[in-house]
Amino acid sequence: MPPVTRFAPSPTGLLHVGNARTALVAWLFVRSQGGRFVLRLDDTDTERSTPEFAAAIERDLAWLGLDWDAFERQSDRTAAYEDGIARLKAAGHLYPCYETAEELHLKRRTLLARGRPPLYDRAALALTAADRQRLEAAGRRPHWRFKLDHGSIQWQDAVRGPVQFNGADLSDPVVIREDGRPLYHLCSVIDDVGLGITHVVRGEDHVTNTAWHVQMFQALGAEPPAFAHLPLLADAEGKGLSKRIGSLSLAALREEEGLEPMAVAAVLARVGTSLPVEPLTSLAPLVESFDFGHFARATPKLDPAEFVRINAKLLHAIPFDHVSERVAALGVEGMDQAFWDAVHPNIERLGDLVDWWRVAKGPITPVADDPAYLAEAAGLLPAEPWDAETWKGWTAALKAATGRKGKALFLPLRLALTGRSAGPEMAALLPLIGRARAHARLCGTAA
Ligand code: GLU
Repeated sequence: MPPVTRFAPSPTGLLHVGNARTALVAWLFVRSQGGRFVLRLDDTDTERSTPEFAAAIERDLAWLGLDWDAFERQSDRTAAYEDGIARLKAAGHLYPCYETAEELHLKRRTLLARGRPPLYDRAALALTAADRQRLEAAGRRPHWRFKLDHGSIQWQDAVRGPVQFNGADLSDPVVIREDGRPLYHLCSVIDDVGLGITHVVRGEDHVTNTAWHVQMFQALGAEPPAFAHLPLLADAEGKGLSKRIGSLSLAALREEEGLEPMAVAAVLARVGTSLPVEPLTSLAPLVESFDFGHFARATPKLDPAEFVRINAKLLHAIPFDHVSERVAALGVEGMDQAFWDAVHPNIERLGDLVDWWRVAKGPITPVADDPAYLAEAAGLLPAEPWDAETWKGWTAALKAATGRKGKALFLPLRLALTGRSAGPEMAALLPLIGRARAHARLCGTAA
């Protein structure tokens, strides 16, 4: 049976690199197995979920190159939750509780003060029908907890290996709020059953939830899916990346940093694995090489500069026809194959093309510290047409005429012709600048 997995973001904010990585890993896994990928919006938190964030998630995933075979919204699935809840209640897996938030807080504080784990004491299980009636008559509404089985809970995690919990070490989770709305845990499990999810890929911050969920699957009469919990990314200092959501949202990497989606995907697919981060031009090799066995259990460190480093390598390796549309979208008329060939080895981001275009076509501020030498160079400029050999012939003539060599020969020319001390090969740049502009820059008459 081909696997079915899902990515289940809450549309309460922008996708950041941490959850984009979860999505990518789940997608790579399922595509490597010829399975199905479900995008599920966990939008039961109606106060914080917005259609704008939902649209942004879809846009960001598509930008990364991910597609999905089915799309679900938890807000459309209330009937499934009602059905699941009825079944769990009928089988005695849920029980009503009447403690207020303050009462629960007090219980926890007391336990902690005694050095005991702050587990829920199950006091509500002892309530009689008469007690409940009295509480409800006094205006209390119940929230509902899932009654855990106090035995061992185990699963073979695709990343963490064997994981074991003891049900007695966990609090019975609250699964229905006082206002009757089901909470994430219950909705998620009911959906995973209903949508036929065979593999759940998510961050390791969900490991304890999974212990609860395993028992909920069983209570619903379903086989729990396989689980893969990815260690959360940290920055170079070991601080959790989630603390820096704003600066590392996919939208920011795209719009503020101007990065290529494949550079972002290449980093996120391989960070924390035993495989190298490589500048790949498509997701296909990432699909082919995918294996949960490559993932390390240790916290992967991710320096955001890595995105730019891989972006640069990618742009240096990519042929013009792969990027011509995006180059055209920069809105500068005339950026053609010859221009790309000349300058792409020197760009970090696609937007850098605009700077090199200005260097080629002006205006620039030429640096002319040695006017006599530059005037002599201008005098020796050959007639057009110019090609990739022009620079070699011209500088050889200049060398013979002046006796200069090396830096003394070349650097003043580069400074006058480009206004910069480093950049693309002058042999490639010179024909783009053209004779009239080169002459004017060397003589300091125009830029
Ligand atoms: N909406 C949850 C989250 O974003 C989903 C977690 C899961 O994959 O089950 O954390």
